[in-house]
Amino acid sequence: MNTKMKCTVDTNVQYLKGVGPKVAEVFKKLGVETVEDLLTLAPRRYARKSLIKDISPRVQGFQGLRVPGFKGSTVPEFNEEMRVVGRIIQTRTKRTSKGPVFVVKLSDGTGTLDLSFFNYSRKATSNFKWNKLIEVEGVISFWGRNLQIVNPSVTFSPSSKEKFLPIYPLSQWLTHKYIRKVVRTTFANDIEIPETLPSYILKEEKLLPREKAIHYLHFPQKLELAELAHQRLEFEELFWLQVLLALRKKSIRKKGIKFKKGSELARQFFDLLTTETPEFKLTEAQRRVIWEIYEDMESKCKMNRLLQGDVGSGKTVIAILSMLKAVESGYQSALMVPTEVLAEQHYLRLSHYLPKIGVNLGLLIGSLSAQDKRRIKEEINNGEVQIVVGTHALIESGIKFKKLGFIVIDEQHKFGVMQRISIAQKAKSPDILVLTATPIPRSLALTIYGDLDISVIDEMPPNVGEIHTRWVYENKIQEVWEFVRSELKEGRQCYIVYPVIEGSEKLDLKAAREEYERLRKGVFKDYEVGLLHGRLKRKEKARVMEEFSSGKLNILVATTVIEVGLDIPNASCMIIEHAERFGLAQLHQLRGRLRRGKTKSYCIFVSPENLGEIAKERLKAIEKEEDGFKLAEKDLELRGIGEFFGTRQHGLPELKLANLMDTRVLSRARSLAFKIIEDDPRLENPENKIIREVLNRRYQEKLKFLEGG
Ligand code: ADP
Ligand code: MG
Repeated sequence: MNTKMKCTVDTNVQYLKGVGPKVAEVFKKLGVETVEDLLTLAPRRYARKSLIKDISPRVQGFQGLRVPGFKGSTVPEFNEEMRVVGRIIQTRTKRTSKGPVFVVKLSDGTGTLDLSFFNYSRKATSNFKWNKLIEVEGVISFWGRNLQIVNPSVTFSPSSKEKFLPIYPLSQWLTHKYIRKVVRTTFANDIEIPETLPSYILKEEKLLPREKAIHYLHFPQKLELAELAHQRLEFEELFWLQVLLALRKKSIRKKGIKFKKGSELARQFFDLLTTETPEFKLTEAQRRVIWEIYEDMESKCKMNRLLQGDVGSGKTVIAILSMLKAVESGYQSALMVPTEVLAEQHYLRLSHYLPKIGVNLGLLIGSLSAQDKRRIKEEINNGEVQIVVGTHALIESGIKFKKLGFIVIDEQHKFGVMQRISIAQKAKSPDILVLTATPIPRSLALTIYGDLDISVIDEMPPNVGEIHTRWVYENKIQEVWEFVRSELKEGRQCYIVYPVIEGSEKLDLKAAREEYERLRKGVFKDYEVGLLHGRLKRKEKARVMEEFSSGKLNILVATTVIEVGLDIPNASCMIIEHAERFGLAQLHQLRGRLRRGKTKSYCIFVSPENLGEIAKERLKAIEKEEDGFKLAEKDLELRGIGEFFGTRQHGLPELKLANLMDTRVLSRARSLAFKIIEDDPRLENPENKIIREVLNRRYQEKLKFLEGG
């Protein structure tokens, strides 16, 4: 640091002593740009010199697997005594032949470890609270593939005279030691660390002042202090997230379009639909949701609604009925979907009905020819097109609507909030309906989409066929193909899904392109087999889709491009190879392509035999469970929120420390933030002055961006 320049929390780290632009680039990879970022770079855990060890090298070392960046020299002996400090990520009881076992899963950021307690007392188990930091000691052994310590000794509030060293997330050649040094010099620079929470909140929530918290975060004398530091900083992150959501919700409430009551067009469309498919009868849930949406549209407030419904619950028809209502009031509607395949499908379906009721439909996707694109742009611009279906091509800057009033975003989980907001900016103050099949538990949904109202379809359409799910090992594949042949003989169609398009040497995976060749020349040589993946040209994709949906193709070999939205009733079975490579939510989505007709459908997951415990649990879970909500909970339990639902998704400030699963802290932060914005929307109360200052200083960009929506 140049001594003449005063270093503040907003200073770029490159100006710190001993850093410079090169190192700053590497820091950036860790999300560290300013001194503030550096100071809140949370250590994953703390090590006591030479005593506390990482979990992961042990597992990997013992299994003889190669771990990138891991040097074999510290591989411990099996049966070694070890000491670990980590967080509790799960607790459960298990029945075994030796009686009940209480199992606590511990994570130290490098790996996980099971603590197994035999002969435990019920009372003792209540001490193992989720997310608590503990220290354990004991002898390492294996339980199946899991690393475990049986009956370890536990320290609940680890403390000691020894120094604790922060272990940071790293990138490239950065080392813990180096980061520690930079942090230490920054502190030595007498940097001012302003408080960001009103003092009454600190008091009420028993939180450390910011400066102290940041100091303890990096230099804890005791682990308890590190714990308190984390608590304070986690709370703060969630609090600011909620303040932004509260402000956003407030701004949305303001103005909006007041659409006309009822809808003749919607009625006409529905009549047409039910004449052609007499068995189509709206479910109770669908009726309720349409009513909720219509009511919102007719009010003078802007609608921002999330429609949650499991795969196949019938969200599309709701989108159509709402878009038609908007058209009736003289506005344009847009339906934005995540893939071109899905856009084409919606377009195809709609073009069967809409012209008959005099509504002009358009398609806008990236791979249109330049000429077609020019024409559709023009029609969107002059208002000729009343409903347009498209991908994110819709948010390109060249697209200008004449009078966009209603937006549907399908399969929200595939878009970020950024895109949600960009499309909203194409209109003055449109009503927005966001559709998602990601079954987020309600409490969590409220928090992540805290600015949206939520409608739920909690009922499947009647007459959907049964679905049978099975999980088999690869060595049964011939039987699987036999089964597929028997389905094909009945005139049904089948999807076969692979995790990758092409194989590679690094990943020993079956790939769509090669398997397609093998299958169509081998077991399925007397059938028509098609191939669909993301790298095909648009025309090719459309042709394959068309051929499969018209029944010309019996089998569709595909990657996850078919994951969302496709709706082909005659396809009664799906084989997913390397099912272990997919997430639970994804498998559930894929399986959702089935059960679209009245026949029984079959979904078969194929995996190799040697799987990790978690992969096995996942496949077991989805084999048994059809309900997307229950699966989502299972998934959260197995993988944690981070992977299930990246923070990137909501486009709000990224959470560095906080865990969205910690619903207690979350709901505290939420109710506080919402109450403050409710009681003092302009933040004029002197007590809240600090909130206004921080908003201006830190979140100005975010605020603009939020108001944009
Ligand atoms: P998703 O919610 O996954 O988008 P879709 O809207 O694609 O589901 O609907 C799934 C299938 O169920 C479609 O074939 C659709 O026509 C049909 N469907 C939807 N609602 C009903 C209903 N009320 N009665 C009968 N079939 C319905
Ligand atoms: Mg859909």
